[in-house]
This record gives sequence, C-alpha cells and structure tokens, in this order.
Amino acid sequence: MKNYRTSPLVRAGIALTAVGSFLVIALVSVTASTTQPRSETSQTKTAAIPKTGKTINKQAVWAETPKTDPLPAGARQSDWNLVLVNLAHKHMTDFPVQLKDVGNGQQVDARIAPQLLAFLAAAKTINTDEHFISGYRSIAYQTQLFNDYISNEKSSGKTPADAEAAAMKYSQPPGASEHMTGLAMDMAAGSSLDSNQAPDISKLEALAVNYGFILRFPKAPGTSNPDVKNPSTGIEYEYWHWRYVGVENAKYMTARGLTLEEYVAKLPK
Ligand SMILES: [Zn+2]
Repeated sequence: MKNYRTSPLVRAGIALTAVGSFLVIALVSVTASTTQPRSETSQTKTAAIPKTGKTINKQAVWAETPKTDPLPAGARQSDWNLVLVNLAHKHMTDFPVQLKDVGNGQQVDARIAPQLLAFLAAAKTINTDEHFISGYRSIAYQTQLFNDYISNEKSSGKTPADAEAAAMKYSQPPGASEHMTGLAMDMAAGSSLDSNQAPDISKLEALAVNYGFILRFPKAPGTSNPDVKNPSTGIEYEYWHWRYVGVENAKYMTARGLTLEEYVAKLPK
C-alpha cells in the first residue's frame, strides 16, 4: 500500500479548514440563539397573547393596558339608586317613596318596578317557584317586625341583649334596613328566605346585573361560612336580598366583587 505523506503545506491547509469550519459553526449557533426563544418562559409569554399573525412584545401590550379602572360615567354617591342605608347610615324618617305594587302583596319604588318584574320573570326560568317575599317596609313596620323577632328570641330563654343580637343576624333595627328605600326585594323559591340552593343563587346573581340588581350581602371574603359577618356590610350572607343600583353600577360592582359600601366609597359626592 502506498504511504501518502502529507506535505507541510497540505497540513497547514487542513488546519485552516478546521478553524474555518469551527468559526462557521460558532457563528450559526450565535445566530440561532438570538433568533429563537431562549427559554420556556419566553415561549409561554408569547403563547399567552391572542394570535395576530405576528410576534407581540408583551411589554408593549402591558404598556397599552390602562393602569386605571374607570368608574361608570357620571356615577355619584348622591345618585338616588346608590343611597346607602345601614347601621352606620341610619335614616330615621321614612323615604318619600312613590310605591308601586309588584304582586304577592309587595311594593317597591315605582322607578324600579319594571326592572324588578323583568328580573323575576328571568329568575323564574331558573326556578319556576321564585317569588317576591318582602319589598318596601316603612319605619313603623320595620319597628314592629324587629320587635317581634326579639320577642321570639326571648321566648326561647335568651336575655334581652342576646335576643337582640340574635335578631340582628337576620334583621335590622328601624332606620338601618334598606327595605325602607323601596329599592330592595327579598326573593326566594320557597316559603322561607333561605330556600334557594347555591347553584341557583350564582345563576341569579349573573342574571341580576342585567336588570340593575346586586346580591347586596355577599359572604365575607375568604370564607365559605355564611354565618361570618362581611366586614364591609356588617351583615352575614343574605342570598335572598336583592338591591337595585342600576345596570352600569350593578355590572361594575359584581364584576369586581365590590359591595355597595365599597363601591360608593370610590365615587365622587
Ligand atoms: Zn331583605
């Protein structure tokens, strides 16, 4: 076999070719690392953005997102449909309400009657037994009701103070119940206030905003226990009590999980 010996010149040529190949490989890998996603994270970020046919810089998208959350246009604390009645905002004289009958012996502020009846019609598509239980209540009637509740509690052996505390769990003293505004309605599918079931309540809540109503006394944040007072409202979970606030306000509050107290605090006077 012939022994080919490579001359020094040929050896130098081989060495140069090897260095050149290395440089080409190195250049290709640098180019690749700058044009392709470097990690799972960058791929995940671009994948989360709606497809528009081109790569979107997420930082640019963030910059376009408004930093403020605009309130419904024109909403003010003094709006008639946002009036606040609670233990901290007692009204010791009757509201000058123009009442309208809405059936089942109940009345509400005439301005909300059409919306309330439309809400009831929609609620009946969820449960045909939904009906009004209690709407407008004057101060005199609320006084009688509250005193009757306390008497009932006393009859089971409670002290006057304990009886009043027990009644406060499901009723409000005169002047602190928003039923006096004519803008609230208790609604249920059975004869007792708490006859609705949880799946129906969430469906009703989703429907209610379309007619301008909110579930006025939601559960306290961070608990599923209905007997815990919501620190914002001072009231336990009442899933029968609906309050009219107007469609725009209702949608805003419900989407953000705000109570009426929290919402009104955000508004100009
Ligand atoms: Zn009520």
